[in-house]
Amino acid sequence: MNPGVMIAALLGGLFFWRKAPSKGAKLSKNFKVSEFLKSSTFPNLRNYELTPAEYENLSALVVGILQPVRDKFGKVVITGGGRPHSVAAAKGTTWHRALGARGLRPAKDSDHADFSAADIDVPGARLDDVYEFIKTLPATRQVILEYTRNKSGAPVMTHIHVAAQTTSKGRHRSFAFRDVPREAKA
Ligand SMILES: [Zn+2]
Repeated sequence: MNPGVMIAALLGGLFFWRKAPSKGAKLSKNFKVSEFLKSSTFPNLRNYELTPAEYENLSALVVGILQPVRDKFGKVVITGGGRPHSVAAAKGTTWHRALGARGLRPAKDSDHADFSAADIDVPGARLDDVYEFIKTLPATRQVILEYTRNKSGAPVMTHIHVAAQTTSKGRHRSFAFRDVPREAKA
């Protein structure tokens, strides 16, 4: 093997090392990648391979926010995970259009696209308590407590949309209540 080929082979090896770990890989004590690859709109999301940058975003979300929530409040259910553009594009559409057709109202430029956001439910806790806790975490970039209305007009909390600070976006923090229900079940 000549030196040029050897160097190319070594660089190739390094490139493969940088690939994100497998979907069964644990992100933290209670979370694994596959939980963020579920969608009834695009079932083949489960086969998606995260890029290293997406994996880094998801790790920031899990380690900095979701695991602390799990430790304090118990089981966390991921109702909406990653929504990479390529998965929808392969079907000739976008997440925004496909979810909109189902009566959902997702944000147009969503943090779900790069795996820095998730929608969660925490069955063992009040969502407004979870919301207040997430606001205190330094890793939080955005947290939205989403609710709907019952027949008598009273608010009913449905889920929390939460996004982590990432290296690719400027530092920013925002907290809100949003009367836009049903974004969660993608
Ligand atoms: Zn969301």
